[in-house]
Amino acid sequence: MDFSFLEKLGVNKTNAGTSTGLNAFNSKTHISSYSPVEGALIGRVSVTSEEEYQNVIKTAQAAFKTWKTMPAPKRGEIVRQYGEVLREHKEALGRLVSYEMGKSLQEGYGEVQEMIDICDFAVGLSRQLYGLTMHSERPKHRMYEQWHPYGVVGIISAFNFPVAVWAWNAMIALVCGDVCVWKPSEKTPLCAVACQNILSKVLKDNNLPEGVSCMVTGDYKIGELLTQDTRIPLISATGSTRMGKIVGATVASRMGESLLELGGNNAIIITQNADLDSVLVGAVFGAVGTCGQRCTSTRRLIIHDSIYDNVKQRLVKAYNQIKIGNPLDENNHVGPLIDKDAVAAYQNTILEIEKQGGKMLVDGGVLKGDEYISGCYVKPCIAEISAESNIVKQETFAPILYLLKYTDLEEAIYIQNNVPQGLSSAIMTNDLREAELFLSVEGSDCGIANVNIGTSGAEIGGAFGGEKETGGGRESGSDSWRAYMRRQTNTINYSKTVPLAQGIKFDL
Ligand code: NAD
Repeated sequence: MDFSFLEKLGVNKTNAGTSTGLNAFNSKTHISSYSPVEGALIGRVSVTSEEEYQNVIKTAQAAFKTWKTMPAPKRGEIVRQYGEVLREHKEALGRLVSYEMGKSLQEGYGEVQEMIDICDFAVGLSRQLYGLTMHSERPKHRMYEQWHPYGVVGIISAFNFPVAVWAWNAMIALVCGDVCVWKPSEKTPLCAVACQNILSKVLKDNNLPEGVSCMVTGDYKIGELLTQDTRIPLISATGSTRMGKIVGATVASRMGESLLELGGNNAIIITQNADLDSVLVGAVFGAVGTCGQRCTSTRRLIIHDSIYDNVKQRLVKAYNQIKIGNPLDENNHVGPLIDKDAVAAYQNTILEIEKQGGKMLVDGGVLKGDEYISGCYVKPCIAEISAESNIVKQETFAPILYLLKYTDLEEAIYIQNNVPQGLSSAIMTNDLREAELFLSVEGSDCGIANVNIGTSGAEIGGAFGGEKETGGGRESGSDSWRAYMRRQTNTINYSKTVPLAQGIKFDL
């Protein structure tokens, strides 16, 4: 493997540090990052010690004093510069994302493009952090609301979007006037070091304090330092529902704010009025893309019984043509799972499907041979199973697709909603009534509901997130910025008296 992309990103292969500039290189413990592509050691990153953590938070707090008083459009200018430098590093960073996480090279580039797009969005937003004005009930009074930054925002991120999800949070939080401390996934630390290095340089070139954006590295224990820390008013956490339940409870117990982006169990309803050619593309990409490791991956197809056999046959045929292998080779459709634990979870789910009465239509299995030396390559598979089975209601972060049958649309919508998660959903139909019912209050209960496109992926312009066990948070576009700011209502009296609200009299 040619590792020159690491040099281009300024990532030192033997000890990447944590890039906080706070003696992180002295740490005694390290995380070794192995590529799921070929099992090779890519580099090591020091784990943040307790003492370093305290320094990072103090540095971030000090930086907040400068950053919060900078006019928002000036903060936007820094984010604009970061977006420009990301454009220069897109090739190298996209390659690192692909090699460290295992997604296809195109998807690696796509992730960096999302970072660039959110920078552009945040630059415009820096001039649009609007509050409302209200008519006061009292004469010569003016009422309005304004938004102030929270302070230090903790960002905990998952392995599957090792760079984009941080950028969705950080770029918006930064223009809002917050400073950020990032705890990336321990499975993809080098991607994080690269992003942080590039941003640190932009800050330095502008004579801004390094604490505007910091990073701490390690496993969940470092994450816990953030979630328990009363100096951090907002925690944005992306990851499993299991993690989100712990993080949500910990942050709530200290009356902090949390923004949770957790697991999904996404379904596509395919009606008898669907255009089956486009269904197939959306369904197969949604189920096998990123080896089923997107929070928005399609996990369930709910198919009308009149077309069920036809869709089933076409899916089985399409699955038999899928090429699995090195994700840096553009001829392959599916790369590896992140690690051996993920492979074990995939195998356990297949056993469970059979125990719960399911039938495999396309068999799974772990691939062996030189091309699959990391041991993380698995076969995307399809199972036919009852919608009521427990296993169907769980998120397995792997390319396992469930086929479920329905007779009328109300039943399909019931099946779609009858899982604990509520992230992404879709209907495939050319019938306006079916589409509108699905989008109506009687339809999908998810944060994302699409018509004639699959569940997977999202544009940065919309608010991204989901309901129920997906956590309820919204980040990225639309008015998601409000989650990163505190609201203040202001009333100004420019009369010569002090009238009380609700007509209350208090004569002295
Ligand atoms: P994970 O929950 O194992 O880890 C995510 C992050 O949380 C890591 O940085 C980890 O160190 C940290 N963490 C774990 N336990 C913690 C604790 N108790 N306190 C503080 N931090 C803790 O998730 P993963 O395996 O990295 O990612 C896959 C999961 O993420 C899937 O469930 C997927 O659906 C979800 N995800 C959701 C979204 C979304 O926007 N809804 C996006 C991407 C991934």
